[in-house]
Amino acid sequence: MSEKRILVTGAAGFLGSHLCDKLLSEGVSVLGVDNLCTGNPVNLAHLANEPRFAFEEADITRPFDFGKVDYVFNFASPASPVDYHRLGVETLLVGSAGTINTLEIAKKYDAGYLHASTSECYGDPEVHPQVETYWGNVNPVGPRSVYDEAKRFSEAAVTAYHRYYGVDTHLVRIFNTYGPRLQANDGRVISNFMMQALRGEPLTIYGDGMQTRSFCYVSDLVAGIVLLSKTHEHTPVNIGNPVEWTMLECAQEILAVTGSQSKIVFHPLPQDDPTRRRPDITKARNLLGWEPKVFLKEGLGLSLDYFKSFVK
Ligand code: NAD
Ligand code: UDP
Repeated sequence: MSEKRILVTGAAGFLGSHLCDKLLSEGVSVLGVDNLCTGNPVNLAHLANEPRFAFEEADITRPFDFGKVDYVFNFASPASPVDYHRLGVETLLVGSAGTINTLEIAKKYDAGYLHASTSECYGDPEVHPQVETYWGNVNPVGPRSVYDEAKRFSEAAVTAYHRYYGVDTHLVRIFNTYGPRLQANDGRVISNFMMQALRGEPLTIYGDGMQTRSFCYVSDLVAGIVLLSKTHEHTPVNIGNPVEWTMLECAQEILAVTGSQSKIVFHPLPQDDPTRRRPDITKARNLLGWEPKVFLKEGLGLSLDYFKSFVK
């Protein structure tokens, strides 16, 4: 029997490229698709001589078909607030038309399907920690809505393709994830603080730094996603690290890991910036037997050489 062929959209991005590596390590063949709007071919350069990996540069907001696949992982979308503010309409389109186009592929080839959704579906949550049954608190016309509402539409579309067409769909709600290949200049908090600390520049905290996030190391996230893809769970599953950090604590942790003498400065908080974010991972624990293994200090240490490579 020929080996399974898996489609990964957003393959040249941070998470997509790690997912390609993980899938290839399991012996399948992988077709990566990406339009490189926020991704970087450097993330896939190590696969140049891998016979089980192929890459197509394509925009998934237009219908596409590169032949039969057994599974679709839909990871294409700008993800950092800086990127999706710059690419607002493109973000809405990839979450809507792009998601439908990838679902059509899964339907056509009777393939499994997993969509990269996000904790942003919970918006600025009134329920803490966030459990999958919470419907969220999203401003549909705020600056983050191009991303949040696109992802909420995607979840509806994915669910509809399961409900109406019987596609074997999966939805993962990813909480803030970091690690090597996180774009060094994409404005996310870990990349900003790491680069600022390594360059000896002030660390820029937005607001008073008391807002919280929960940071998952990329290998933990990808392991959870691959486990989820092998289930028949169709409703959303949170994957993230449940340890909650204020941005002030995060800045201090990064100063310690990098050994930097940088100062901390305070900048205005962006509009609609969620106040707190922590996943309830009971469902992932019970369904997948999954637990995060890498905690922030270790994960930052594992990412240090990557971020150092950008410092001249
Ligand atoms: P990323 O920007 O590094 O990767 C996204 C990739 O999608 C890029 O390579 C980009 O070029 C590609 N892309 C965007 N629009 C496309 C289009 N129209 N056609 C083809 N390719 C397109 O971001 P990431 O952090 O790797 O995020 C990957 C996925 O995971 C996204 O869907 C994101 O919403 C989701 N997610 C990420 C996080 C996180 O913390 N990293 C958290 C929640 C959800
Ligand atoms: N943030 C910060 N300084 C920065 C970048 C981000 O204080 O240089 C804050 C941001 O306001 C938010 C948190 O860090 O409260 C996480 O931001 P990020 O853009 O990484 O992700 P998201 O807001 O999408 O969770």
